Amino acid sequence: MTWAQERRKANNRARESRQRRAELRVLIDGRWVASADGITPLPPDRHGLPGTYSNWMCRCAPCTTVATAYMKEYAQKQKDKR
Ligand SMILES: [Zn+2]
Repeated sequence: MTWAQERRKANNRARESRQRRAELRVLIDGRWVASADGITPLPPDRHGLPGTYSNWMCRCAPCTTVATAYMKEYAQKQKDKR
């Protein structure tokens, strides 16, 4: 298998697990919060991390805030490169 094929497969796997995790989220105060079992939200120490926002599709306040800041920083870095 070529490197590109390997990458595509890994990407698909990541997308599928994200999809599964997204379906397990629970709605709390109008926000979709990541959960491992579809009932209990992830413990507080898992929130406020860019990874929980992107890998778990968590949209709680701490995760959203941190991901927004992270994306802004990333966009700024991209701009600085040019
Ligand atoms: Zn969260």
